[in-house]
Amino acid sequence: MKIAVLPGDGIGPEIVAQAVRVLQAIGPKFDLEEAPVGGAAYDVAGHPLPPATLELAKKADAILFGAVGDWKYDTLARELRPEQAILGLRKHLELFANFRPAICYPELTAASSLKPEIIGGLDILIVRELNGDIYFGQPRGIRTSELPLFKGAREGFDTMHYSEPEVERIGHVAFQAARKRGKKVCSVDKANVLETSQLWREVMIRISKEYPDVELSHMYVDNAAMQLVKAPKAFDVVVTGNLFGDILSDEAAMLTGSIGMLPSASLDKNNKGLYEPSHGSAPDIAGKGIANPLATILSAAMMLRYSLGMPAEADRIEKAVQKVLAQGLRTADIYTEGTKKVSTIEMGDAVVAALS
Ligand code: NAD
Repeated sequence: MKIAVLPGDGIGPEIVAQAVRVLQAIGPKFDLEEAPVGGAAYDVAGHPLPPATLELAKKADAILFGAVGDWKYDTLARELRPEQAILGLRKHLELFANFRPAICYPELTAASSLKPEIIGGLDILIVRELNGDIYFGQPRGIRTSELPLFKGAREGFDTMHYSEPEVERIGHVAFQAARKRGKKVCSVDKANVLETSQLWREVMIRISKEYPDVELSHMYVDNAAMQLVKAPKAFDVVVTGNLFGDILSDEAAMLTGSIGMLPSASLDKNNKGLYEPSHGSAPDIAGKGIANPLATILSAAMMLRYSLGMPAEADRIEKAVQKVLAQGLRTADIYTEGTKKVSTIEMGDAVVAALS
């Protein structure tokens, strides 16, 4: 099985290296091929997603992705900025379904900013639509305002839209995921204000009829942001659009103690996927050897489960992660008194050792 390895920028190469070691240690022989992406690709090929990298991603069975972005590329034109690489991969490969599980391991309850009784045992799944919404809507741009009050001033504008088939396909993904879990879907929208959300809600209600065993509820995004910190365990599967999902999944990440713990999978309709940590390239800690590689290692486990049909190996990796946490090993982001602080590589060493 061919895996495209795209480390990217910042801490990307450091954390991906540890996930690769874990994949090499798990047993089956994978054909791992690496290519530059993001700012690293711009530096060598003049584009954040060069044709050779895209080609590799297309022909691979799955993609292991680190992170892209660095402040030094902030002055580039938008289409050349590192972040365009991940948006381009999602679009070209039609990776429309983003799975972001937020699980609070018992050992990390103290690392969360919330009280243990609110967070202990948390296990929720955010399903975010990735290919549509205001991030891709046209027209967009910066123009001269025609509003009477601000006439002549510069104004930025973007377009939010979702078609019925786009909502249907992400809805089915969420309902099917809920069937294998707690059988509850909460659809998050802003139907009290946005037409896009009114259609979204209508479609969710329609397709829910095909899943009588799954309970559907609806929540406005502002309330969902509040409920996620008030009573996160009340959720099972949360399904939402690209913009709301971007924000809520980062909020959910912090519930678990650190964004460095949160894996993600972005799947197409055939379960081919791109697997990456939910965090960015963390330029503030890049090169210091202190980044948490566990979100990337757990993303590799998701890859084995969702795209490569190897659930037993996925379980082994997840159990190994739990074991190192139980041993008290912590990178700086999840360190609390009484535990042992380790580097990125030492955490990788420990997971590889725990596999056996
Ligand atoms: P970030 O997620 O990179 O960092 C936010 C904070 O979390 C920082 O303090 C960072 O040090 C910390 N952090 C993140 N990952 C960590 C880890 N594994 N271990 C320990 N600490 C960790 O978000 P940001 O600072 O807003 O963005 C930095 C760059 O990343 C930007 O260029 C942004 O565009 C990009 N970005 C890329 C992706 C992606 O590649 N998919 C996603 C989000 C942001």
